Amino acid sequence: MGEKSAKFIFVTGGVLSSLGKGLASASIGALLESRGLTVTLQKLDPYINVDPGTMNPFQHGEVFVTDDGAETDLDLGHYERFTHACLGHDNNFTTGKIYDQVIGKERRGDYLGGTVQVIPHITDEIKDSIRLVSRDVDIVIVEIGGTIGDIESLPFLEAIRQFRADAGKENVLYIHLTLVPYIITAGELKTKPTQHSVKELRSIGIQPDILLCRTDRFLDKEIKAKIALFCNVGTDAVITAKDVDCIYEVPLVFHQEGLDNKIVELLNIWTRTPRLENWEQLCRRLKNPESVVNIAIVGKYVDLTESYKSLNEALVHGGLPNKCRVDLMFVDSESIAAETITDILGQADGILVPGGFGSRGIEGKIQAARFARENQIPYFGICLGMQIAVVEFARHVAGMQGAHSAEIDVDTPYPVIYLMTEWLDEQSQTIQKRDAGSQKGGTMRLGAYPCRLKMDTLAHAAYGQLEISERHRHRYEFNNEYTSMLEESGLVISGTSPQGDLVEIIEIKDHPWYLGCQFHPEFKSRPMNPHPLFREFIKAAIVRQQGVAK
Ligand code: GLN
Repeated sequence: MGEKSAKFIFVTGGVLSSLGKGLASASIGALLESRGLTVTLQKLDPYINVDPGTMNPFQHGEVFVTDDGAETDLDLGHYERFTHACLGHDNNFTTGKIYDQVIGKERRGDYLGGTVQVIPHITDEIKDSIRLVSRDVDIVIVEIGGTIGDIESLPFLEAIRQFRADAGKENVLYIHLTLVPYIITAGELKTKPTQHSVKELRSIGIQPDILLCRTDRFLDKEIKAKIALFCNVGTDAVITAKDVDCIYEVPLVFHQEGLDNKIVELLNIWTRTPRLENWEQLCRRLKNPESVVNIAIVGKYVDLTESYKSLNEALVHGGLPNKCRVDLMFVDSESIAAETITDILGQADGILVPGGFGSRGIEGKIQAARFARENQIPYFGICLGMQIAVVEFARHVAGMQGAHSAEIDVDTPYPVIYLMTEWLDEQSQTIQKRDAGSQKGGTMRLGAYPCRLKMDTLAHAAYGQLEISERHRHRYEFNNEYTSMLEESGLVISGTSPQGDLVEIIEIKDHPWYLGCQFHPEFKSRPMNPHPLFREFIKAAIVRQQGVAK
């Protein structure tokens, strides 16, 4: 089979940030897939960090982890949830990563003594990075981070401007997302911000082909004609990107507005008519639940739900096969104390402690795990949430007073969670080493690892198979030195690495549903294919709720 030659769609954003460029790009991907095309997506981020791995989730939102272990922008999570694209290192480039590569080449002497400049060296590097993901797909959708007018994104914009000349006019499309605000006092929609933003884009040589206008109501013919006239696009290329109640409606709204039709027309490709029944069914199910459960998420970055994006979505997905709406209650673990815990967590049908780093609020999380265990409330611990569960069990069931994770207390008498200094990386079959002083960004267990499940456990019942693969992002591990002590007290190790040395899933006996996993299952949950552990956790929460109601 010969190499396909892909077509490229570049998505830029104007006026202000947070208009939903990531979701718009993901939805374009979903629509094109529904027409039988294969797609991939890429995010180009203007910041200087080489990757978002070391960025504060408070500022930047969740770090999304791919199978190949890349720590990426959370928009890649949207892309994977909306499409079948399997993403990795090459699907997210930052200014830092581009410069890092160019400087590396310069040091190696690759530029043969030439002066290394933004144009052409940085822009060429950007264009090469875009081409990297174009193999074997029909369409590459590239989202440019930031807002038109920022100085940081200029090299990216220059590169995509040049791209059309390189790849051919019929192979490149520019889509611009802008805002059309409704001004209450004037009683009308305003097009000026869109006009200005398109003018800005044109001043750097890019004429958008399609405008996605974010607004709270459908744009009528007249206003579309006005925008089309001022922005030099066809009236049918002005698409209403109307606010929706649920993000999975976005592809449907875009389709209704004729977006996918316009894209294939402009790119001159013939496709089958789109099949969107699965998206329609998904939205129907989301809007018509038969029950509602309350899940308490006990964490640190609780003020900012963006830092748990994939987790929140995975919980919503987990409700779908159970015909259940999942309401989330974000609990700051620092607010939990012995006197307040019943008030705070007593109403929860399920308790979840998500991943996290550092010691802040750790005792509150341990108390939450204990509360769930003692009160038979379904518990789901993810990464740090599993480590917390092990610490709690060691302290209060196995009699190991003062047990802790060495991440938080280096002098604990029972380091049940510790830093494994040497381990076999089953992906590369090499021995990996690390110590407490190792570089923060470089020593995590990252990406997909195989895991073998034990028969007749909650994990086995959920997955319905014994071999699984899940994504990791952590430094500390379960300490095998305490395995027998913990098992004798009733801890069940239900998933390990195939060699058996890394503990991946723990459960406890005599509890309706109590499970902790060292990996992050939320990264692999899809609305069309909810993750089994989330599905079972929600199912257990429903059972709990019904039991309490009796
Ligand atoms: N801080 C813990 C570790 O590094 C857990 C990390 C996480 O929850 N992602 O092992």
